[in-house]
Amino acid sequence: MDQLQKCIRDIPDFPKKGIIFKDITTLLNNTDAFKKTIDILAEKFKNDNIDYIVGIESRGFIFGGALAYQLGCGFVPVRKKGKLPAKTISVTYDLEYGTDTLEMHEDAFKQGSNILVIDDLLATGGTAQGVCQLVKKLCGEIIAVCFLIELSFLNGREKLKDYPLFSIIKY
Ligand code: AMP
Repeated sequence: MDQLQKCIRDIPDFPKKGIIFKDITTLLNNTDAFKKTIDILAEKFKNDNIDYIVGIESRGFIFGGALAYQLGCGFVPVRKKGKLPAKTISVTYDLEYGTDTLEMHEDAFKQGSNILVIDDLLATGGTAQGVCQLVKKLCGEIIAVCFLIELSFLNGREKLKDYPLFSIIKY
């Protein structure tokens, strides 16, 4: 974990003052670290009969796509409003200032499918909570929600307490 943590770069005051942005591009361009990340997640979920990884735009796509390949399952993108071409379901959730809307195709998976939700980072948990609501709307079975990074001091886990939660690196 230490080896992975060292590959994450802190960018102060991005995208706005007071936020320390966890930049994962420095992990992605490290061959060993990226592979190790996917290996850890694949090992963790290899016996859970995951049917689909639901990845959150946009960094969730990078880890989710690689993990879906490794687990031999499908991948479902959750995207910002207006990006998906077919009929969608949507969820709107609160941000620090204002709201955001995420969408998923309404035929993304069959009801009862085993779903693993993934994003790069858990902060307040609002985004992942919204995505779990979308999965539940389609009657998906949420096996777990997973992240590369968890900012524990923001207590995002509380919003996701109905589901098993796994994160590799905690701050
Ligand atoms: P939240 O809904 O508060 O849990 O925010 C999670 C989403 O915002 C994820 O998609 C993260 O990629 C992004 N995010 C929030 N805070 C940070 C941070 N400090 N560094 C990098 N990404 C962040």
